Amino acid sequence: CSMAASRFTTIISPWNKMAVAPITSIKGIGPRRAEAFGRLGLFSVEDMLSFMPRGYIDYTKSVLICEAEQGMLCAVKVTITGEAKTVRIRGGLTITTAAATDGLNKLQLCWYNQPYMASKPEAGRTCYACGRADKRRGMKLMNPQLCDELPGIVPQYPLVSGLTQKIMRGAAAGALGMYKGRIEETLPESIMAEYSLMPRGDALLAMHMPQSFEQLERAKERMAFEDMLLYALMLSILRYRREQGGGIAFNMKGKLESFKKLLPFEPTAAQFRAMRNISSDMAKNVQMNRLVQGDVGSGKTACALFAIYAAIENGYSAALMAPTEILADQHYRTLKNMFGSRAILLKGGMKKKEREEIAARLMGGEALAITGTHAIISGGGEIANLGLVIADEQHRFGVRQRAAISAKGSAPDTLIMSATPIPRTLSLLMYGDLELSVIDELPPGRKPIKTRIVPQEKRDDMYRFIENELKDGAQCYAVCPLVEESEAMEGVLSAAALYKELSRKLDISIELMHGRLSAAEKQARAARFASGETKLLVSTTVVEVGVDVPNATIMVIENADRFGLAQLHQLRGRVGRGSKESYCFLLSESDSKTAKERLSILCSTTDGFKIAERDLEMRGPGELIGARQHGEDGLSAAMFASNMKAFNMAKDAADKLIAKGDMSDPLIKKAVITADEKTKNIAQN
Ligand code: ADP
Ligand code: MG
Repeated sequence: CSMAASRFTTIISPWNKMAVAPITSIKGIGPRRAEAFGRLGLFSVEDMLSFMPRGYIDYTKSVLICEAEQGMLCAVKVTITGEAKTVRIRGGLTITTAAATDGLNKLQLCWYNQPYMASKPEAGRTCYACGRADKRRGMKLMNPQLCDELPGIVPQYPLVSGLTQKIMRGAAAGALGMYKGRIEETLPESIMAEYSLMPRGDALLAMHMPQSFEQLERAKERMAFEDMLLYALMLSILRYRREQGGGIAFNMKGKLESFKKLLPFEPTAAQFRAMRNISSDMAKNVQMNRLVQGDVGSGKTACALFAIYAAIENGYSAALMAPTEILADQHYRTLKNMFGSRAILLKGGMKKKEREEIAARLMGGEALAITGTHAIISGGGEIANLGLVIADEQHRFGVRQRAAISAKGSAPDTLIMSATPIPRTLSLLMYGDLELSVIDELPPGRKPIKTRIVPQEKRDDMYRFIENELKDGAQCYAVCPLVEESEAMEGVLSAAALYKELSRKLDISIELMHGRLSAAEKQARAARFASGETKLLVSTTVVEVGVDVPNATIMVIENADRFGLAQLHQLRGRVGRGSKESYCFLLSESDSKTAKERLSILCSTTDGFKIAERDLEMRGPGELIGARQHGEDGLSAAMFASNMKAFNMAKDAADKLIAKGDMSDPLIKKAVITADEKTKNIAQN
């Protein structure tokens, strides 16, 4: 690899100075238990120290059972009034119960399969019972712990089999004891002072044994700050390295003008801006690494087509990766229209002969426009002369995946397209290694989608309305959070159940779509919907991304409160693509006030960026960017637990550190190591 000599070189981490004590040096952890800890990624005492609880239970004050909400975890000060009794129920299970009072009401303490609890609640004893309130049939507290004092704020750790919360709390206490007064500070004094951060030692103590929620917030902020600072630094380093490395300098002269003639419409000003950005990136002899962010329906595909067109005109192949096969098929049709026989669709389950023919063409040096799913293109064989890679609908495209693409043979230009509008502050941090183009304008003639929250008693009216519209030639999606009833949670309608209900109640052609169908079946059903043969598609969120059926004008979303606002907005974006009036109906059985408030935001605006900002305010960054998808990206649990304040502070601090450019700064050194780790495996492949 002939990357230009970098200012950033690998050095030994100052973090490893401290001798690593194996987790078995904590009292009570033997080899068996250590194995369970290992499955959580915890091998050393230091690992345990920095292991983040996933949540906290508030046992700081006692409540009366009548005040407790159904299902709430609470501490109730009780006096035991009767002897405990254990009875056997079906399947060898036992229930142990004891009568108690909180001074105002009688209640029952219940333990499942803990017959040994029978000896604990002696009649006459007064204590705090901490457990889950169940008020459906009489007042009960389920599986309570009995404590003489209020337990305070109790951390809840992620678990694997073989571990319990009690073991985890013991291990955290053990680790804290061993490192008492010896937890090293990782941030420099100046940064600590400038952003008034809690020292690392205090923060770790507070994470595991918080004294107050206020203290806990400051501790989380401090931990998140450090992780985000490193993350932002790492992205800056990756960006710097890319800028130092070479790339293809495409000849872009006149390309935008000749491409415009091929488009059936006039690009919007925002599309045109993004295309000009792409054009100047591609002309440079540096790899393009650009994110095009634009609301659903804003016309990102045209920007991708422009880049593909320019690559092909320069004699290079281009790959357009889609998240689903349905979307890859759709892209294939578009590519065929523009590039004829140069368009190639890669898909799973191809016959050997077909596969070999395509492989030969990919290696033949012809300039091709290739599409397929991410898995197939990034996992699949070689493509000669690959000059451009585009990832469609991939705001969750991680650092590692981005680095994997840029490491491909000819150092192709990359373009990432995302329909998830992310507030600028957040995207600056998340995508610090990318250039950003925002398409903040919809093509002309779109009517805003009429969005309504439909109360349950109006459900049948809604069905009538839909039936009429569909008989007039419209089409409708109905989306559910679950596939089958067997997965069901109480009060959640599954796609299978809705499909049955609608088939019974409506006299129109309906089909069911979900992720468990075979690829061929999914494709067939999607095609029937696209052609208009099927009028109503009942579906799980597989229709979330990219599908373009302009004739679909109604979107029904069941249990809408279970989706994030950004996701609801995405779903809604499946309709309103033509010039006809479109509707989005949100159904929800939740009577929580915040749920209603969130849904009403959707009714009041169709601006994706506004919706994302509100979502961010209401739920924090974690939900918005999808914590799970980013787990392996170096975005830690702490970052998602944190607030925008920590995000902004960390970004600010990272910018200042980079501007100083002091390579001996331990934080920058650590960020260099992380950046190396992210790209190491890839360079070897
Ligand atoms: P998305 O940004 O969600 O990927 P698409 O690229 O699929 O959006 O575009 C949505 C629809 O709008 C397509 O049918 C496309 O042909 C059409 N479209 C895109 N840009 C324009 C434009 N400037 N004028 C008119 N129609 C457009
Ligand atoms: Mg799209």
